Amino acid sequence: MSRTDTDLPLESRLCLACGICCDGTLFPFALIGESEVDDTARIGLTTMRTTDDLPAFSLACQYLDGAACTRYQDWRPSVCGDYFCHVQKRARKGLITEEEAFAMIGRAHNLINDVKSALPSDLLIAKARHEFKRLAAKQPDLTPEEASFVVKMFVLERFLDAEFRGPKRSHLPAASVASAES
Ligand code: SF4
Ligand code: SF4
Repeated sequence: MSRTDTDLPLESRLCLACGICCDGTLFPFALIGESEVDDTARIGLTTMRTTDDLPAFSLACQYLDGAACTRYQDWRPSVCGDYFCHVQKRARKGLITEEEAFAMIGRAHNLINDVKSALPSDLLIAKARHEFKRLAAKQPDLTPEEASFVVKMFVLERFLDAEFRGPKRSHLPAASVASAES
């Protein structure tokens, strides 16, 4: 699907250009209701409990094809239809233009590619995040390659916090942002 599919509503066109809330980039899991656990497992998604003992399924999702959901017309957890990122919320309220929303998605994909270029293999961002946390704790004993990866991952996470996750779902602790900016 492309940006020229103007018959679709804006929210659909944005998601079809994006996909980062399903591929593990934005979040490592998606919350579901207790009543959805069995059906979620039945369709082959990996269910889990969060540290707060909330039911969820792990991301990346196997039903994502490119940036499109292949279970769009079949049963899927309610979060799949209900979740709107900070870009979507602002675009729907008219707080950012369509062009700005697409530009944010494009920027996110560019930053993701930057991170991937600093990785030794085609590692998923969700797994790269574990490596980021491990290496960030190891400062200042990083190799130049490790330092390059940490900086790129930090830039990506900060952008996702600001533009996609929104103020209440930040991944980076405030102290890390402050120290990285000083
Ligand atoms: S992160 Fe936002 S724009 Fe991207 S697929 Fe998810 S809801 Fe859609
Ligand atoms: S079922 Fe579709 S909307 Fe839900 S996480 Fe998977 S790809 Fe995303």
